[in-house]
Amino acid sequence: MNDFVYRNGVLCCEELRVSDIAKKVGTPFYLYSRNTLVNHYRVVDQAFSALEHIICFSVKSNSNVAILRLLANEGAGADVVSGGELFRALKGGIDPRKIVFAGLGKTEIEIEHALGEGILLFNVESSQELMLINRVAERMGVEAPVALRVNPDINPKTHPYVATGLKQSKFGIPLKAAMAEYEVAQKLPGLNPIGVHMHIGSQILESGPFENGVNKLVKLAKSLKVLGMDIRYVNIGGGFGIQYTDEEALTPDQYASALVPLLEDVGATIIVEVGRMITGNSGILVTTVLYDKHGEEKRFVVVDAAMNDLIRPSLYQAKHHIAPVNQREGVRDVKVDVVGPICESSDFLARDFTMQEVKQGDLLAVFTAGAYGFSMSSNYNSRTRVPEILVWGRKAFVIRRRETYEDLVRGEAIPDGI
Ligand SMILES: *Cc1c(COP(=O)(O)O)cnc(C)c1O
Repeated sequence: MNDFVYRNGVLCCEELRVSDIAKKVGTPFYLYSRNTLVNHYRVVDQAFSALEHIICFSVKSNSNVAILRLLANEGAGADVVSGGELFRALKGGIDPRKIVFAGLGKTEIEIEHALGEGILLFNVESSQELMLINRVAERMGVEAPVALRVNPDINPKTHPYVATGLKQSKFGIPLKAAMAEYEVAQKLPGLNPIGVHMHIGSQILESGPFENGVNKLVKLAKSLKVLGMDIRYVNIGGGFGIQYTDEEALTPDQYASALVPLLEDVGATIIVEVGRMITGNSGILVTTVLYDKHGEEKRFVVVDAAMNDLIRPSLYQAKHHIAPVNQREGVRDVKVDVVGPICESSDFLARDFTMQEVKQGDLLAVFTAGAYGFSMSSNYNSRTRVPEILVWGRKAFVIRRRETYEDLVRGEAIPDGI
């Protein structure tokens, strides 16, 4: 279920040819399909329909306000991790009563902002944070709804940079310490403990680690209820894995059928914080081949997109499928490194990758780039950030324009006298 398809060797996004869009906007650019995005949301939502639930879209995976608006229209909530993401979620039209705020370094200003907006709850990551939220809430004369993010010490068997639920991880409160923290929270006048939360990592391809974590979380929720706490939300986090190249990913239904039975009798609304599963395959990155360069041992396809546009391969050794936008007949396959123009050896989009031989000027599509693509992009090497284009049927909309050189220096100043 994906609206990026080849028709007679020509890559299309919904009803439009990718190469036609490239002619209009130039490369590189991100291209999203509205249809894929909305369908992915609906499939995840439907998968958990047996339970009272809220799908809180993980804003960090793709934070464009138009994407947030489309999901808000579908009834999505949001999982935010900063004041900036909260601002975006609200601008996108997401109901504050469906916004949860995670992150282990919330500042006083961010806490005040979120309390003022009346968010659903804070996912609290330390005892000092609990104290600060209590102080701010008391000062504002409100009660802060909180859940503790517990660290269930589970190995999600994913890349170490995206494993977040291990003992060694900076995230969450150890499960062992959680009960005592909840009892503290229950007594503080500015806090209202109403939920439990975990998020064990990202791109997890099995349901086992989730089942393991959910069992621990449900047990905790039940013990807290026995102590008289009104635990109304059980937040199982996100991190469901998707297919980038040849991984075998479970479907939302498969995850749900493993987890729903474990959550049926907990007597709470279930929160699912998905990012990548909704946005990952809703977007591609389109780039042009600048040079076909033959090194001494390797062949390089130098493209106009780089690690500043899509950092996942450099940061996580992530693999993305890459293919020509317009396929040619009878072309042989060659093994190449697809690299960008940035002055770093870690600037690559793929290494030792076998693909159709390409020529200067060819367009390439980097697939599954809708999550942690643009949202992780930067201006390194003073490269302007690329536009984001949204296709809806036969129409393409610029939902973020290409940056200009002036954008690069906006906000900078040369002091008088230097
Ligand atoms: C990043 C994150 C998610 C979403 O992860 P995906 O892999 O995109 O599903 C959910 N919850 C929290 C707290 C996160 O930090």
